[in-house]
Amino acid sequence: MHKKFRGVSLPEEIVNTIEDFIKNNPRHGYRSIADFVIDAVRKRLEDLGATPPVISLMHLNINPDRSTVLLWDNKEKRAVDILLTEDEIRCLYCDSIRCEHVKFAVNLPQVQREFNRRRKLGLKFPDLSYLELES
Ligand SMILES: [Zn+2]
Repeated sequence: MHKKFRGVSLPEEIVNTIEDFIKNNPRHGYRSIADFVIDAVRKRLEDLGATPPVISLMHLNINPDRSTVLLWDNKEKRAVDILLTEDEIRCLYCDSIRCEHVKFAVNLPQVQREFNRRRKLGLKFPDLSYLELES
C-alpha cells in the first residue's frame, strides 16, 4: 500500500533551523527536512494522545453463517476477534458492536464484499446503519 502525502507550509526560519540541525547533527540520522518533521509531529501526536490506534487485518474467515475477522491492535499490542453473524458484527475483545475495531472491520473491502454478496442472495446480514449515523 502506498502512503499518500499532503503538503504543508512551514515558516522559512523553522525550515532553516531544521536544515542546520540536520547538517550539524548527523548522528541523529535525519535524511531530510521531511524526515525530521514527520518524526517531530509523530512524537507530538503521541504526547498529546492524538495518534489514532493502528489497527490492521491479520486474518479473515468468511463462512455462510458465522464469519470471523482477526485484527491486530497495535496500540493494545494484541489480537482482536470480530464476529460476523447474520444479526450483528461484534468485537469480542470490547464486547461491543460499535468500537473502533468493528468500524475498521466493517470498512474492509472483503467484508463489504461479503455483505454485498449476502444482500444479492437475499441472505440475512446485520443492519449496520447505526455505524453510519455515528461516524
Ligand atoms: Zn473492539
